[in-house]
Amino acid sequence: MLVKNVSALIGNTPLIELPIEVPKQSKIFAKLEMYNPGGSIKDRLGVHLLADGFAKGLINEQTTIIEPTAGNTGIGLALAAGQRNLKTILVVPEKFSFEKQELMRALGAKIINTNSDLGIKGAIAKAQELAREIENSYVPMQFANPANPAAYYTSLVPEIISDMQGMSIDAIVAGAGSGGTFAGIAKGLHEFNNAIKTVVVEPAGSILNGGPAHGHKTEGIGVEFIPPFFAEIKIDEIMTISDEAAFKQVRQAASKLGLFIGSSSGAALQASLQMAEKLPANSNIVTIFPDSSERYMSQDIYGKL
Ligand code: PMP
Repeated sequence: MLVKNVSALIGNTPLIELPIEVPKQSKIFAKLEMYNPGGSIKDRLGVHLLADGFAKGLINEQTTIIEPTAGNTGIGLALAAGQRNLKTILVVPEKFSFEKQELMRALGAKIINTNSDLGIKGAIAKAQELAREIENSYVPMQFANPANPAAYYTSLVPEIISDMQGMSIDAIVAGAGSGGTFAGIAKGLHEFNNAIKTVVVEPAGSILNGGPAHGHKTEGIGVEFIPPFFAEIKIDEIMTISDEAAFKQVRQAASKLGLFIGSSSGAALQASLQMAEKLPANSNIVTIFPDSSERYMSQDIYGKL
């Protein structure tokens, strides 16, 4: 494969039929988003948010991009912005992984850390404050921008449908942080086939299932407020997965399958296995593995193996 720039490597990630035993002879297919050049699903979002901003006249060649992020969106945005010679400032709660923050810096972004106790809301407030201070700045604001779900609606959904090569899709299982991935694919797959069950995954400590808000080790998913995008889509099931269960799947994916998946992928895998128990036999469950474990080594993702 010959390519002329890194953006050409975004998307068209492999979908793997996991060679594992799944309850009721069902199958789990996982989209391996770690194969994007910035190492996560958020590369799709980075290029899309900038293209959208340019198309709407909200960004020009001198604009500074500012965004609150848990990390992967920051990497995706910095990757896209660097190629367009745009300055990027990313506001990241300090608890998020060292590796992700290093990668953002390597891509040329400036990082402002906020107090982790203030959560993502603290990062959002800081990004808005910076935007008021910095002339010609633009905050794509993944948490509210319809371009966020649209990025996956336009890129990920057609890929999933084509990767499945005509096999039925019975359920889609995906985590929610901003909610963009889930909302985009739920909308697109329901348009494709309204019978597909849509299953959103959150870590224990996130509020979708009405549980009490608290910290969690699973990184990239978990919400402090209901994503606005969820108002427009149908959610069939909310799966709340403990850190222990998610990290157990991370370890097993490495040792049994040779797959280095991040903790949000571990949660998605656990939720997919639980869904297999609920769905009819021989169901095809499609899930998303947003990134790799290699960016969480400093968080001791494999524990003491
Ligand atoms: N997993 C990981 C590792 C992520 O970084 C993110 C984005 N924060 C997600 C899942 C959730 O994606 P979304 O923001 O589209 O809900």
